[in-house]
Amino acid sequence: MTDPSEIASPLLKWYDCCARSMPWRGIHDPYKTWVSETMLQQTRVETVIPYYEKFLARFPTLKDLAAADEADILKMWEGLGYYSRARNLLKGVRQVMEQYNGTVPHDPKLLAKISGIGPYTAGAIASIAYDVPVPAVDGNVLRVFSRLFGIRDNIRLPDTRKKLESLAAFAVPDKRAGDYNQAVMDLGATVCVPGTPDCDHCPLSSLCNAFIRGDAADLPVIPGAAPQKIVSFSIPILISGNQTLVRKRTETLLKGLWCFPLLECDPQDLPTFLFRKFQIIAVPAGESIHTRHVFTHLIWQMTIMPFTVTNDLPAPDGYVWVSASELENLAFPSAMNIPLKTARDFLS
Ligand code: SF4
Repeated sequence: MTDPSEIASPLLKWYDCCARSMPWRGIHDPYKTWVSETMLQQTRVETVIPYYEKFLARFPTLKDLAAADEADILKMWEGLGYYSRARNLLKGVRQVMEQYNGTVPHDPKLLAKISGIGPYTAGAIASIAYDVPVPAVDGNVLRVFSRLFGIRDNIRLPDTRKKLESLAAFAVPDKRAGDYNQAVMDLGATVCVPGTPDCDHCPLSSLCNAFIRGDAADLPVIPGAAPQKIVSFSIPILISGNQTLVRKRTETLLKGLWCFPLLECDPQDLPTFLFRKFQIIAVPAGESIHTRHVFTHLIWQMTIMPFTVTNDLPAPDGYVWVSASELENLAFPSAMNIPLKTARDFLS
């Protein structure tokens, strides 16, 4: 088996010549690393860059963010998805203000006790901002290490994960731990990618068990994932004068964000359903649109239908009527992009 301590040197040489340029690189500021790593969870670098820049222009320091309103933060996060990240980040920076007088701790064990910081982000902050020699293990790292060391056991098993985490910990160099961790992330994102890796351009190919054995594309071993649950919604875009009906979500998924009514009824029955449930008299005002939004474990299948409301009623419990300009000040998840466009078209 490859000696884990042999990995850092060729990887850092590769990083020095070929690292991707990102606005959070070369900065030793734990708050900025925290923001970037939080945004990067489940999200591509190209998507994150404009959000990161706007977010830091608005909240340049941890203190600024701790004093902000959750609604403002969700608005800045609009479209980035996985909104619990933003809420936990806010909780976390407030915790750092209260418990550590605004200074992010160096110790990964203390970091991992802060809201929104799991073991991966703790490792990333400690190594990138403070050069503490600890790994930052995420799915990318597990994939790269399973190939490098030829670990062919089910990667979902806790024992396999422990084995890979321990190899990852041995491989971290005493110096430049932050650069090293970012180099592993880059390798996993650009060369040692899921599916077929680009071994011909890999700085570690001469050390790689899977490359030598020729089964890199089959690793890591991941048994079939559970199928995603599908939920169907009818979404009426209700236009009453110059207003439309929306609701701020209280459910765990997308909590605090705004949505149009998500009704679990047959789209054909919407007028009857709207009258029975809300006493709203709704007349179809256009074609229906079918779309879907895929979350990690869930798919929303949506039928969007515009209606003109012909009776004048206060908003039902939990809902509000908003004008076109008010709509623009609310934070909507990207699942609502098409309903939002439909509402804008009718209100303009
Ligand atoms: Fe991944 Fe191929 Fe490099 Fe091995 S040689 S680490 S499989 S890219």
